[in-house]
Formats: sequence, structure tokens, C-alpha cells
Amino acid sequence: MRTADEYIRDTYDLYVGGRWTSAAAGKRFATVDPATKEPLAEVAAGKAPDVDRAVAAAREAFPGWRDTPPDERGRIVHRIGQLVREYRDELAAVESVDQGKPRSQAESDIEGAARYFEYYAGAADKLEGTTVPVGPDQLDYTVREPYGVSAQITPWNFPANLFARGVAPALVAGNATVVKPAEQTPLSTLRLAELCAEAGVPDGVVNVVTGFGDEAGAALSSHPGVDTITFTGSVPTGQAIMKRAADNVVPVTLELGGKNPAVVFPDADLDAAANWIARAIFTNAGQVCSAADRVVVHEGVHDELVERLVDRAERYDLGQGTDDPGMGPLASADQLERVTRYIDLGREEGATLATGGRALDREGYFVEPTVFTGVDTDMRIAQEEIFGPVLAVIPVADEAEALAVANDVEYGLVGGVFTADVTRAHRFARRLEAGNVYVNKWFGDTNQTPFGGYKRSGIGREKGLEALDSYLQTKNVAVNLADDDGTDLPGA
Ligand code: NAD
Repeated sequence: MRTADEYIRDTYDLYVGGRWTSAAAGKRFATVDPATKEPLAEVAAGKAPDVDRAVAAAREAFPGWRDTPPDERGRIVHRIGQLVREYRDELAAVESVDQGKPRSQAESDIEGAARYFEYYAGAADKLEGTTVPVGPDQLDYTVREPYGVSAQITPWNFPANLFARGVAPALVAGNATVVKPAEQTPLSTLRLAELCAEAGVPDGVVNVVTGFGDEAGAALSSHPGVDTITFTGSVPTGQAIMKRAADNVVPVTLELGGKNPAVVFPDADLDAAANWIARAIFTNAGQVCSAADRVVVHEGVHDELVERLVDRAERYDLGQGTDDPGMGPLASADQLERVTRYIDLGREEGATLATGGRALDREGYFVEPTVFTGVDTDMRIAQEEIFGPVLAVIPVADEAEALAVANDVEYGLVGGVFTADVTRAHRFARRLEAGNVYVNKWFGDTNQTPFGGYKRSGIGREKGLEALDSYLQTKNVAVNLADDDGTDLPGA
């Protein structure tokens, strides 16, 4: 197996109009392997003038792509999926070393990325409008048209997968795109843009401007040439982007954070619940918006569940992503600082550390799988998104309290319920304030199922056919069928 080094170039430019081009200011920044802190490559630091060029390239390419017959658009997008599969080893190797995640998790992300292109490709020639029966003298119909230029700003936890999640439906609907990947993890996105071109996507339809959030990201989200914005990231950045979008009156799709409850009732299979919850909080070192951050457990089975969770947590081996350990490092120095700060805070707030809680004394940004018990719903570790491998266990007395605690956060992304009682499972699912509910499992959403947040977790839906709505606007056409010249109409 080739190592990531053989795939990674020393320097990367911006990808604009189908060409590699250096940033106008000529500046670059290093992207770093979080397991070793070694720089991997120097990447162009795009700023406002670079965003101007990328948006101009997308605007120019848009009409040709919009007017490409939909079956042909679908074939091209399907070919991207095939190329992603063909280059799976390369993409997974690069993702694992740039982001830090275990190699097998990177492979599964890349597989998911291929699936997005394949899934949406089939929809390209099925984006139908409707006829509206308004009366005998009028033909009224709707057509669904692309917006134009779709700006996509992505985070560092699933770079390749989230590129595919947004770009695939945007392209299928006939939009051109400008993508701004997170500065911590730009490498797989740049390679995917090349694969789009190799699949036959015309120059200028997919552009990538690497750079920092407050420079490239701010310039892209405030650009008057952008027609719609898809953003995945934190709540404060989402709010800033929404304000800029308001200035240009363009729609936003926001996938923001979560503080997701896993609710465990006494009749649940506790071994299975512990397995799912451990996976749900320790996958990608907890840097997953849909991680199970909080366990809300009936006091009757609290101790038995905690014992199992601690056992699962302590079985994780930590290591470099390329060695495919159970858990890799956190993605950056900032993230290590944030997670350890929250662990200290949990101690100060009076929660009990059942296991973990330490940063590893070695090179790289490693922190142990951590379980806090004795957590009260008012504590900050129960309210704020930590985005690390830190679980907060909150005991409750009954179903009513479980529901109140589960919903007692500003977020509403996902939630899970573990019980053998099918009626309770559905009752609870209905009352959970979350866009996605898992019953006796976790990470239950797929490419085919709509995904997105209630409350502050976001606006709009990604995945599934519903995501296409974010990339299409509806035009209604009213045609006069009557043999008249309008003179009989009131006011004529
Ligand atoms: P972030 O908001 O700091 O950054 C995300 C992206 O926005 C990056 O590309 C960044 O460069 C850019 N950005 C930063 N400041 C910007 C600005 N002022 N204007 C425009 N762009 C800007 O978030 P993060 O720390 O990279 O990601 C972690 C967050 O993302 C967590 O809250 C997590 O829950 C959320 N997330 C959500 C989902 C989801 O689908 N709901 C998926 C993954 C991550």
C-alpha cells in the first residue's frame, strides 16, 4: 500500500476555471498532520480577489452547465462517483493523514462520498415540475431551475464526504460551485476537484478557493455573485454567514452543531446500548456533529450502563490514523486546547471522571476517551458542544424527566432512544426536538435520508432527495389558452 506522502505534493494552488492558479497575494499556509504536528504541504491562502475570480469563473460556466441535457449531467456526476471509488486508497490515505482519522474510517467516508455522486446522478433527469389545474382557459406549470452559483463552505471533520454531500446535488441540479474547504484539511477537496474535471465537469463548474475563514470564507459568503450558500460548521460562523446572506437576499442551508442525547431506558439491551453509544461518541475522536454527547439514563440502570461505557472507552487504542487505531488524534492544536479546557471545566463543575480525562504525553493532539458521570443538565459540559471524545452521563427518574433533559439544550440535531418498548420508542421519537432520531442504534442516517437540525442546529436539509430543494428554485408559468385579447378583463 502506498503511503500518503507519495500522493501529496509540496505545494497546492487554487483550483479556478479548471486551472491551478496561485493566490493573488502569493501567500500560502501549511496543513499539518495532527498525529505528528509535521507539515504536509503548503496551500494557497486565497482572499477576496481570488474569490472574485472563482465566482466569475463559476458565473461564466453556469449557463453551459445548466443547459447540458440532464441525462448527460447525470452521467458525468455518476462518473465522478466511479473515480472516487477508483482513487479510494489515495483519497483515504490523504484524508487520514490530513485530518487524523483512522484509515478505515477515512475509507468509509470516501465510500460515502462516492455514494453521494452515484445517488444524486440518478436524479438529474427526474427533477420534474407540475401542472397546476387553475381552470379551462389557462395552462399553468412549474419548472425547477438551478440558482446559479452555489457557495459551499465546509468544516474539517469530514472534508471529502461533506464536499460530496453538497457538490453532488448542486451539480445535478445544474448549479456551478465555489468550494471553500476548512484551512485545517484542504487536501482531499483539491483532489476531488481534479476528479470532477477528469469525469467531464466543464471548466469553471467546480472551483476551490483554499484559505482562512475570516478571509476566503467571509469573502465568499458576502459575494454578490453567489446565489445560494451551503455551510457546515459552528453556530457562530453560521450566524455570521446568515447575516451576510441577508445583505444579498440569498438562501442558506446551515448544518451546525449538536449536543445530542442518547436516552437509555431500563428495558434496553444495555450491552448493545453501550456499544452504540461508544461508537457514537468515540468515532472520529468525537468530532462528529451527530455524536452522542450526552447519555440520559434511567437511574435504575445507571450503574450497569456506566460500567459498560467505561469498559468500552478503555478498550480504545489511540494512534496515528494511518495505523488504523480505534481512535486517532484530534484534528488540530486548537481542538486539543478546546477539549482539554472542557474536561477541566467538567471537574470544576463537580462532575465525576469515570474514565479518561488526560491528553496523552506524546507528539500529536491525542486525548483519552472520557466519561463524566454525575452530570447535571445545567452544567456547561451538558449544554455546550465539546466536539471531542467526552461523554456526559445524566441520571433521570422517569420518562418525563428523560424527555425534559433530552430537549433541554439549544441544539436539536440528532437524538437516540434505547428501549425494548416499541410504543415508548415512537412516542419518544415524536417528542424529541431533533431532525434525526435513532431507535436502538446510532448514526442511522444514510445518503438517502434527509439530515439536518431543529432549533440552533441548522436550517434546511442535506442528504436524500430533500437536499435537491436547496439547489433548485421554482418558476411558475401561466399561459392563456382562451381565444380572447384581454379586453374583457376587469380594468382592461
Ligand atoms: P467553523 O465554523 O469554525 O468552520 C467551518 C468552516 O467555516 C471552515 O471552512 C472555516 O474556514 C469557515 N469559516 C470560519 N469562519 C468564517 C467566517 N467568518 N466566514 C465564513 N467562513 C468562515 O467550524 P469548525 O470548527 O470547522 O467545525 C466544527 C463545527 O461544525 C461543530 O460545531 C460541528 O458540530 C459542526 N458540524 C456540523 C455538521 C452538520 O452536518 N450539522 C457536520 C460537521 C460539523
